[in-house]
Amino acid sequence: MEQRRNMQKLTMLGDVAKECPFCGSKKIYLVENKADAKSATYYGVTCVDCLARTESCFFERPWEAINAWNGGDEGRYCDRKHHDEQ
Ligand SMILES: [Zn+2]
Repeated sequence: MEQRRNMQKLTMLGDVAKECPFCGSKKIYLVENKADAKSATYYGVTCVDCLARTESCFFERPWEAINAWNGGDEGRYCDRKHHDEQ
């Protein structure tokens, strides 16, 4: 059995997250990233319509990622990037 190196799980956030700053979509998802089964999980937030996301920082707690997306304490969408701008 082949092991997947990068595991991602997406969970829709609904009203918890603000709409996308780029396209206005409400389809905002929490992304759980796991390098492998033994690694810690890191969280990010992404818009599935335009693929904008909290790009360069992943968070150890899901609410930290959501807070960053919403423009909370240290966040301002973190280092958000639009995929077209890369
Ligand atoms: Zn978007």
